[in-house]
Amino acid sequence: YAKRIGGDRIEIFKPAMRARKTDRLTMESELRRAIERQEIKVLFQPIVRLEDRAIAGFEALSRWDHPKMGRLSPAEFISIAEEIGLIVDLGLFVLDHTAKQLARWQAELPRGHEPVFASVNVSSRQLLRHDLIQDLRGVLSRTPITRGSLKLEITESLVMENPEHAAQMLTRIKELGAGLSLDDFGTGHSSLAYLQRFPFDTIKIDQSFVRTTSRGTRPVILRSIIALAHDLGMEVVAEGAETDSDAVELYQMGCEYAQGFAFGEPMTSDEALDLLIEKPARPRTLKIASE
Ligand code: C2E
Ligand code: MG
Ligand code: MG
Ligand code: MG
Repeated sequence: YAKRIGGDRIEIFKPAMRARKTDRLTMESELRRAIERQEIKVLFQPIVRLEDRAIAGFEALSRWDHPKMGRLSPAEFISIAEEIGLIVDLGLFVLDHTAKQLARWQAELPRGHEPVFASVNVSSRQLLRHDLIQDLRGVLSRTPITRGSLKLEITESLVMENPEHAAQMLTRIKELGAGLSLDDFGTGHSSLAYLQRFPFDTIKIDQSFVRTTSRGTRPVILRSIIALAHDLGMEVVAEGAETDSDAVELYQMGCEYAQGFAFGEPMTSDEALDLLIEKPARPRTLKIASE
C-alpha cells in the first residue's frame, strides 16, 4: 500500500484509511444532491410555555435520509456541508421550508391565540456571508408570517468567534424583523453581561446546565443565569428538559420556556400542527383582583 510520489515523498495508504476517504468523498457528492432529491427532512421540536404547558413554538432540526445509511443526524452532515460550502444552500432550504410551515401553522390556528414561532439554527459559514441577509429578506417578503415569529438561533461560540462582525449581522437580522435566540448558552465561556450588547431577545440555556447533576442537584449557576437574563430583558428557554421535575423546577426558577423530551421529540410539520391545535397558547389570563 505504499505509493511513491515524485522522488522522495512516500505516502502510506492503509485500506481502512482509503475506505474512509472514499466514503467521505462519496458522502460529499451525495450531500450535494440530497436537497434536490428531497432527502433533507426538517423536523420540529416543541418549545413549551412552562406557565401552562402550552405550545409556544418549535425549533427546526434537520435530518438526512440517506438512501443506504438511513437517517443521519446533523452531527453527521452539518460540518461536511460547512466544509464544502453547501451550508449556504442547505441553510436557505431549511429557512425557507420552516417559514412556509410556520405560515401554514399560523393560518390554521384559530384566532385569539398567541402567534406560534419557529426557530432555525444558523451555522458559522452562514453568518460570515452577507447572503444570509438577502436570503432572509427574500424568505420574509414571500412568506405571510407574524413579524418576529421566525427566529434565528446563533450559538454563543459563534458570536464569540468574531464579535464585531456578528454584532453587525445580528443588528441587520433584527431590523429585517426576525427574532434572535442565543443558542447553547453556558458552553462558550463568555458572559451574559457581554452578550447583552447583541440584540438577542431570547437565550437558550444549554442542557448541561439544565439537568440535575450526579448528586441530584441542579447546577447552582442555573438560577443566576435565568435571573440575569431577565434583568437584561431577555426571555429564557431551557434546553434538554427530560423529566417532569425538570419542568417544575425550571418554572419555579422563573424560566419561561422549556424544550426537551419531557414535552416532545422532533416531529413532522403535520404532527406539530396537531399538537398546536391540541395545546395552543392562549393569551396570558388576566388576573383581576377581587378586592
Ligand atoms: P441544538 O440547536 O442545541 O438543538 C438541540 C439538540 O438537542 C437537538 O439535537 C435535539 O434533538 C436535542 N434534544 C432536544 N431535547 C433533548 C432532550 O431532552 N435530551 C437530549 N439528550 N437531547 C435533546 P439534534 O437534532 O441532533 O441537533 C444537534 C445540533 O445540530 C443542534 O443543536 C444544532 O446546533 C445543529 N443543527 C440541527 N439542525 C440544523 C440545521 O438545519 N442547520 C444548522 N446549521 N445546524 C443544525
Ligand atoms: Mg438550536
Ligand atoms: Mg441549542
Ligand atoms: Mg444544545
